[in-house]
Amino acid sequence: MTILEAKGLQVSYDNTEVLSEVSFTLQGGDYLGIVGPNGCGKSTLIKALLGLIPLDRGEVALFGTSARDFREWQRVGFLPQRLRTLASHFPATVHEVVALGLLGGKRFPKRLTQNDREKVADICEQMGIGTLGRRLVSELSGGQQQRVLLARALVSGPELLFLDEPTTALDPETRESFYALLREINRERQTTVVMVTHDTWNIGRYAARLLYLDRRVIFDGTFAEFCHAPDMARFFGEHAGNTIYHEH
Ligand code: ADP
Repeated sequence: MTILEAKGLQVSYDNTEVLSEVSFTLQGGDYLGIVGPNGCGKSTLIKALLGLIPLDRGEVALFGTSARDFREWQRVGFLPQRLRTLASHFPATVHEVVALGLLGGKRFPKRLTQNDREKVADICEQMGIGTLGRRLVSELSGGQQQRVLLARALVSGPELLFLDEPTTALDPETRESFYALLREINRERQTTVVMVTHDTWNIGRYAARLLYLDRRVIFDGTFAEFCHAPDMARFFGEHAGNTIYHEH
């Protein structure tokens, strides 16, 4: 099943074109890593796909419906780069933050039902933060906060999950377990995963498919193809490319 279709996307900020002719499709269960140099438009692409910024040109369809008419946002989860508000003063508990992930699908007044509370408790349990429900998020470690945000993105049971540089703030060990968790979600629930990352070294171990962006789609294929593509070898440096490929 086609989950997402992006056709000829063009996006500008203040008349400066940031994305041009970006097209790709996602099938159910795909795990796509979006990589590329700093400032190449990765975050912009995610925002454009989510309808958070306008397109100059092009079309996005989600689950077969044009994004303009799409109303089922509970089918889509989003883990933003990092909630800076969470890091310092935000006085909300783990359960409160995770419950925010259910409110998007509700009409005003937005109230949580008993069933919602059970969903929140269940996802926290699955994300390994089951005992932290009443703790303030601001008091948790970076890795725990990231799990809270992942639980918030997953609590509505999305079929499509976007993550924007989710591992930047994590230490290497927490990063590994975060990737492992995502792989499980992708494999067991068949959740389609789209992850923007700088972590090209790790992403190849997890994402079945890579999209290398530099304002345009420079490469779209498997990790093995990526390592063998002459243009991409230049990106890693020849030696690094070999090292990475042999790790697989
Ligand atoms: P990446 O995520 O790949 O680092 P971004 O999508 O954040 O790249 O940014 C792409 C380009 O657009 C960069 O040159 C950045 O400075 C610019 N940009 C990003 N957000 C804005 C904005 N809100 N207003 C103006 N320019 C922006």
